[in-house]
Amino acid sequence: MIRLYNTAIRAKQDFVPVNPDRVTMYVCGPTVYGRAHIGNFRPAVVFDVLQRLLRHRFGADKVIYARNITDIDDKIMDKARAEGVAIEVITERYEALYLEDAATLGVERPDLHPHATTSIPAMIGMIELLVAKGHAYAAEGHVLFDVASHADYGQLSRRPLDEMIAGARVEVAPYKKNPADFVLWKPSSKDQAGWPSPWGRGRPGWHIECSAMIAESLGTTIDIHGGGIDLTFPHHENECAQSACAHDGAPLANVWMHNGFLNFGGDGKMSKSLGNVLSVGDLTEAGWSGDELRLALLSAHYRQPLTWDTALLGQVRARLDKWLRKLGDVPKGVRPLPPVSVVEALADDLNTPAALAAIAGVESDRDALLGALAFLGLPSLGPERSRSAAEMRGLADDEETAAVDALVAARTAARLAKNWAESDRIRDALLARGIVLEDGPAGTTWRAA
Ligand code: AMP
Ligand code: ZN
Repeated sequence: MIRLYNTAIRAKQDFVPVNPDRVTMYVCGPTVYGRAHIGNFRPAVVFDVLQRLLRHRFGADKVIYARNITDIDDKIMDKARAEGVAIEVITERYEALYLEDAATLGVERPDLHPHATTSIPAMIGMIELLVAKGHAYAAEGHVLFDVASHADYGQLSRRPLDEMIAGARVEVAPYKKNPADFVLWKPSSKDQAGWPSPWGRGRPGWHIECSAMIAESLGTTIDIHGGGIDLTFPHHENECAQSACAHDGAPLANVWMHNGFLNFGGDGKMSKSLGNVLSVGDLTEAGWSGDELRLALLSAHYRQPLTWDTALLGQVRARLDKWLRKLGDVPKGVRPLPPVSVVEALADDLNTPAALAAIAGVESDRDALLGALAFLGLPSLGPERSRSAAEMRGLADDEETAAVDALVAARTAARLAKNWAESDRIRDALLARGIVLEDGPAGTTWRAA
């Protein structure tokens, strides 16, 4: 049995997916306006270990893991303006770097990587639902979520409403009914990126992006939602509120998981104040391997803070050198199964320090050592090549997968808007391409016929 700490109840509990044949997990991905630092990859690596554990337990093709790319955001727009380029130039550049750094760390590509800009119709559809149900209101080109309309607001982060209002007070806009109301849609000026909407040309707020991408890519209620601890409030609180209100009270996620922060600066050599917060590229240029960086990120329990300094990397290097020497030359190919002791440690709320201790206990057994380190995802020990989302679903390549995802998203938006003619048209167009859709209680899935 896998046990996971659920932020929503502040306790560990047995993990029981709604449907063990379709375990769903979503992790908030990067906003692509600059190169991510090593701390940004802590959630990517932690939830990569979790998806490997889930596939081990439920079956490789029984888990659907989605991690989005936030490719519309005011920080992206600022960066594009500063460089005098289109926002796509910025987002494509930093998404590519993010994926490259993630690969260096042995992070597998998620099954789905929805992009905010290709899910705008789903966001508009969800905002329309919220307005229609009395949970949101339009004012001066904005649409705001009405927190007073949702009795459970604040339950995830356990903040009393008056505290949330105090926190929001710095930027209270006159059109807000309540200072804690947050933006679902905001107007764009002519020179800003924007999309047509019932409230005029504009762009979505950050929180509604995730709610809509989850609904469209995974379904109404998912098993696991993850992210960094800093996202608990307001981002996840707001995702929870929007989704529950749009879906008649159905919870967005059954388990909420949050990783602790990575702090720079233990020995003064890597610190934000020194302006040398490090990217994966900086670290590999300094001579650290992807294996070392990944193992360092996993050296503390994911819910604990982790101090990132050269002492930590040095310890990891010493330990890993010993293990890799024992393994010797490792040809590409299928890896042995991980030892039970290592899987058990990970099944206990992803206790990676206990897993590393268990590995130390089996290190004299070469197969066990190789199985364990490969299971932890050390990039140098991966099999020949990892299975792509396209291969999994019988398609030619990831590009085609993304194109089909976009069409399925457009159809979901049409259905939300009760535009049945358009939704049927898209279904038929997909069928002509050999793609079969299946609408279930948990959303729409698809496969190559
Ligand atoms: P961002 O692109 O800023 O939205 O961050 C992407 C992810 O990285 C989010 O899940 C954040 O919670 C997480 N994150 C940002 N900084 C750190 C840090 N220093 N340590 C751990 N996680 C972080
Ligand atoms: Zn999110």
